[in-house]
Amino acid sequence: MSGQKLDQRVRTNQPAIGWHTDEETTTGETVLELDGLTREYGIETAVEEFSLSVDRGELLTLLGPSGCGKTTTLRMIAGLEQPTGGEVRIAGETVADGSSAVPPEERNVGLVFQEFALFPHLTVGENITFGIDDWESEEQQQRLDELLALVDLDEHRDKYPEALSGGQQQRVALARSLAPEPDILLLDEPFSNLDVRLRIDMRQEVRRILKEAGVTAISVTHDQEEALSISDRVAIMNDGHLEQVGKPELVFENPESRFVASFLGRASFLTGRVRGDTVETELEQLETAQLNGPVDAYDGAQIDILVRPDDLEALPANETMADGEIVHRQYNGPNFVYGVELEGETTLRCLHNHVETFEHGQPVSISITADHELAWYPTE
Ligand code: ATP
Repeated sequence: MSGQKLDQRVRTNQPAIGWHTDEETTTGETVLELDGLTREYGIETAVEEFSLSVDRGELLTLLGPSGCGKTTTLRMIAGLEQPTGGEVRIAGETVADGSSAVPPEERNVGLVFQEFALFPHLTVGENITFGIDDWESEEQQQRLDELLALVDLDEHRDKYPEALSGGQQQRVALARSLAPEPDILLLDEPFSNLDVRLRIDMRQEVRRILKEAGVTAISVTHDQEEALSISDRVAIMNDGHLEQVGKPELVFENPESRFVASFLGRASFLTGRVRGDTVETELEQLETAQLNGPVDAYDGAQIDILVRPDDLEALPANETMADGEIVHRQYNGPNFVYGVELEGETTLRCLHNHVETFEHGQPVSISITADHELAWYPTE
């Protein structure tokens, strides 16, 4: 496949990973430090030895499957949950350790809830100024004007929440949490209350608002596309542990563990045996130079190579030449994702343009079209 065709395929089919183009907006000044943070519930450990630093102005997302400890971590930062071990430090001050805790209202941390939790009997303006009603009236109005401009709701300031769309309600909730100028804004599954279409539109809008406000934000989600598209860095959690933290492109392209590899993208693993400078895979032979790290220590051993749907292409083949057959086809509008079962029972997924159709049971050969280094893991 030519580079141009591959580019086209990737462009039409990839999620909006790293879609934002703005420059670095963090300051390098640490505002939040989690140091060995642990939370036990009886014999269950929800969060274990979690350490992470977040810079002022950074947007970091905690991402992981259900039950991995994201919400518990967020609640410990907010002060709604006490750690059983480790420390939370905000702007250099210890706000919680295993024995003492600063109450939530004294932490200068804002919280945006999943369901927005707007007050139905207050107008947009009154909702936004709710947390700063002890400010001088003139300062309150000035802050309200700034925030209404930021979230683009100036003409709606006297409306009640029921007269607003879901996206507008979310912007009011954001403005309300930003009003007291928190050190850190925490967002708990901020898009889960919006319908699918709006959710995608609101991702970049929420990022724009947070970046223009210059606030440090920690968001929680189990939606990888959302995490990868809005965040400066993504922290991937598994079973109470931090698996990997880094820029979206880095964690997607260089997953450090098999868990991260299988959690991000629709990953499959291709088994191969290392023979000197090559790897004999279930499909073709690969050069070890195409892998993302040295495999010398594994000469003669079996490894698993991470392949995502856009790394592979299925081609029609007769039964004797075929690598496998189509066992699954998912039509997504712009593209198809085909599942191909190999003889060894591995199933690989291949991404194709919507006009490239294969039928169930059709024999195909598979070519590895990736033009980037492939991550690999020792076979367990
Ligand atoms: P989800 O995406 O489903 O919200 P999560 O990653 O946010 O999941 P948590 O809600 O932090 O996960 O829960 C982590 C683990 O801690 C789970 O196994 C959960 O059952 C357990 N847990 C959380 N809160 C409590 C509690 N109050 N008492 C006992 N166990 C709890």
